[in-house]
Amino acid sequence: MSPGRWLVPAGLGAGLAWHGLPALTSMGPLRTRLAPALAGAGDPGHVALTFDDGPHPASTPRFLAELDRLGVRATFFLTGRWAARVPGLAAEVAAAGHEVAVHGYDHRCLLLRGPRATYDDVARGRDAVTHATGVVPRWYRPPYGVLTGAGLTAAARLGLTPMLWTAWGRGWPTCPAAVPCCCTTPT
Ligand SMILES: [Zn+2]
Repeated sequence: MSPGRWLVPAGLGAGLAWHGLPALTSMGPLRTRLAPALAGAGDPGHVALTFDDGPHPASTPRFLAELDRLGVRATFFLTGRWAARVPGLAAEVAAAGHEVAVHGYDHRCLLLRGPRATYDDVARGRDAVTHATGVVPRWYRPPYGVLTGAGLTAAARLGLTPMLWTAWGRGWPTCPAAVPCCCTTPT
């Protein structure tokens, strides 16, 4: 086989690796070892509570009420679609003193999306959260915690810092609109 015929598979392999290797950080033990910053490893004396998805009228107000009762502030990774659908509720999250962050616009796994679609989704999500809350988000968490090369690139271009978690509450089977996770960095 001529060298040229190897170049295409080699390029394809490099492209697939660029796209898919960051997804390995979705596995908790690997994330903690390979990318502690993504896991939220920071000040060991500090715990950050984060929630994913929504804001959803069925559950988010209950989380807000309970956090207010406890005197705890958290970071809410909102989807742009829901922030646009219920902007008043998204604004309520921010007004209550919680940090708002980006969870994409549509809740779709980035492994199934190319660079253009990924960038458009993250940008649209950031814009929707900003428009609803008046706050420019700092953090980005991809749906399902699955990062890709395109996701990392889009976040960097949009001035967002990717953030996953160190431990999660496994609340999603019963609370589809708010998944509690814990890490130590977002404030
Ligand atoms: Zn999610």
